[in-house]
Amino acid sequence: MRPLDAFAVADWLRAFAADVAANEALLTDLDRQIGDADHGANMNRGMRAVAALDPAEFPDARAFTKKAAMTLVSTVGGASGPLYGTLLLRLAAALPPDGPIDRDAWSVALRAAVDGVRQRGRAEPGDKTMVDALQPASEAFDAAQDDPWGAAARAADAGREATTPLVAHKGRASYLGERSAGHADPGATSAAMLIRAAAGTLS
Ligand code: ADP
Ligand code: MG
Ligand code: MG
Repeated sequence: MRPLDAFAVADWLRAFAADVAANEALLTDLDRQIGDADHGANMNRGMRAVAALDPAEFPDARAFTKKAAMTLVSTVGGASGPLYGTLLLRLAAALPPDGPIDRDAWSVALRAAVDGVRQRGRAEPGDKTMVDALQPASEAFDAAQDDPWGAAARAADAGREATTPLVAHKGRASYLGERSAGHADPGATSAAMLIRAAAGTLS
């Protein structure tokens, strides 16, 4: 595992920001099907602001991650801002001090982050939300023999895929009722990108 510091977290979130920017249209199109066609713009606005933060200005990974969370809350707008903000705030609070970090410490932090999203959104797996990518990612991380971030990324992708047939029970998509089935959830799609970015930068 890459040692923990503000630069490691910044690399992770910048990789996520780049993926969001490259896939802004995809995220927007998904949200056009079952929402209000702003998830790509929301996430791109927020992650551009996060990517502009300079990790050298923060004393440690925890402080940087907290600032990234507050930046998302204040720039994203929409349901996803407070949810991703909560994810990063809970992650920050659960991070150990900078330095060597083992998989158990990441496991604890990832679980705290995902639990925070579930509590904040009152969503459970199967509700067709970002939780459907995040919860399997956390579980796969814990169950992996080796390469826990890679296992988490694959599980997040599978979880995102599995949202397609689901009927939404939370967020705007739930207003569509049965008509929300047949499209992947936009927030699960961005959340799978977040975990994929972690696999590429934190492993
Ligand atoms: P908005 O719905 O306000 O326009 P976005 O389009 O940016 O916000 O984000 C929509 C995504 O937010 C959904 O695809 C879903 O994954 C996630 N989401 C919405 N409500 C909840 C919730 N209560 N719990 C977890 N995730 C949610
Ligand atoms: Mg939307
Ligand atoms: Mg909106």
